[in-house]
Amino acid sequence: MTIQTFHTKVCIVGAGPAGATTSIFLGKYQIPHFIIDAACFPRDKICGDGLDLKAIGILNQIDKNIIKNNIKQSDKIQACWGFRLIHPSGKRTEFVFDPNTSDYTQPPYAISKRTVIDTLLVQQIDPEYSTFLQNTVATKIKRINGKWKISASQENKNIEIYCDLIVGADGERSMVLKTVGDRKIDRNNYAGGVRQYWSGVEGMHEKHLMEVYYPKSKPMSYLWIFPLGGGYANIGYGMLSSVASKYNYNIKSDFKDILEKDPLIADRLKNAKPEDSIRGWGLPLASLQRKCYGDGWLLVGDAASMVSPTTGEGIGTGMTTGLIAARFIQRAVQQNKFDESVLKNYDREIFRRVKDDINLFKISMWFSPKMMGWVMNNLIQLPMFKKMFQQKVTQWLHTAYHKDLVVNLD
Ligand SMILES: Cc1cc2nc3c(=O)[nH]c(=O)nc-3n(C[C@H](O)[C@H](O)[C@H](O)COP(=O)(O)OP(=O)(O)OC[C@H]3O[C@@H](n4cnc5c(N)ncnc54)[C@H](O)[C@@H]3O)c2cc1C
Repeated sequence: MTIQTFHTKVCIVGAGPAGATTSIFLGKYQIPHFIIDAACFPRDKICGDGLDLKAIGILNQIDKNIIKNNIKQSDKIQACWGFRLIHPSGKRTEFVFDPNTSDYTQPPYAISKRTVIDTLLVQQIDPEYSTFLQNTVATKIKRINGKWKISASQENKNIEIYCDLIVGADGERSMVLKTVGDRKIDRNNYAGGVRQYWSGVEGMHEKHLMEVYYPKSKPMSYLWIFPLGGGYANIGYGMLSSVASKYNYNIKSDFKDILEKDPLIADRLKNAKPEDSIRGWGLPLASLQRKCYGDGWLLVGDAASMVSPTTGEGIGTGMTTGLIAARFIQRAVQQNKFDESVLKNYDREIFRRVKDDINLFKISMWFSPKMMGWVMNNLIQLPMFKKMFQQKVTQWLHTAYHKDLVVNLD
């Protein structure tokens, strides 16, 4: 079989939200590079499909028209005005953003199937600066004389890419991470999740609220119902891996049990039907704070373990790391220097963006299941939390629509 060889300064492995964002910003900085992905887009990714204001902020920084042109009441990207918590007691608390008492009229959240949002993102990659190879699986990565050699297979041909800097954007099971670091799973900083699409789900809020339910029968775990419009929803279930092993939970069968037997959920699915099978994947949490740079390499997104430990959201944090990585790469290319010294403040810049989430997560880990149940049942519904939500969302909308993310390289 023939081998095709390429030489480039930068190669990104993985074109999910983190890798695509890195590539988009490298294109804006006019830096030629390669980006490869094992899949061909549109491709699915097991996810809750929730987009937070971090993701919306980076989308706006890419192009102000993306959200404006694509957010709709249903169809492509579902606008979502807040969330509904269903407490272990069965009580509900709804946090609905009211645009009438704010300077902002945009929704604070959005929900989009990954086949849609990830495809929208790769469409923003600039072909003038980026050679984007789909259906291309990295099979071996080696360091040779200060360069990287990436061996990849592409349908019926083999390719080799030689580069000075490799960006690991290849997700939770990252091959780049396995090459440069340690991919051992730390159960205290890792979660598992399953999801299934359903149609005909009843009882969803007219403002398309994201719903999170804390089942009484399985403390410290949560089920979500994220509406995609017209009774169609992404329903999923997740928990910290250390919780699963401590309480002997089985994520898939417990999920099925809740859907079939828990009256708070089963009643809403009595006329509904599953649209696919239950599928699971891991969530590497940012609280691990792994080292994400070194001589000639950077990690972004799930490969960098950047999922928010409090919300389970990793699309926005992954895109944030992509933008920050691109700024560091721009400087490295300008200086034609790719060693650790030129990338050394990368970790500081990425973890600064998830510091509050990590601190809140660490505090919540001190709570026993009983305390957590009490907080959910009693504290969260106090009116002051609804007021805080309205104020916070206004602040976050201001940042997402009017403030570009500024990266401090030194
Ligand atoms: C059950 C579940 C629910 C979730 N819910 C949410 C949510 O509601 N909101 C949210 O923000 N986040 C959520 N997340 C997290 C989110 O899915 C991830 O954080 C996000 O996808 C990370 O993006 P990424 O670009 O780093 O990786 P990915 O999206 O995983 O992309 C990695 C890419 O790398 C490619 N790749 C992998 N290996 C290779 C290889 N060897 N060669 C070439 N290409 C390769 C893959 O094909 C893929 O396209 C959830 C995760 C799970 C598991």
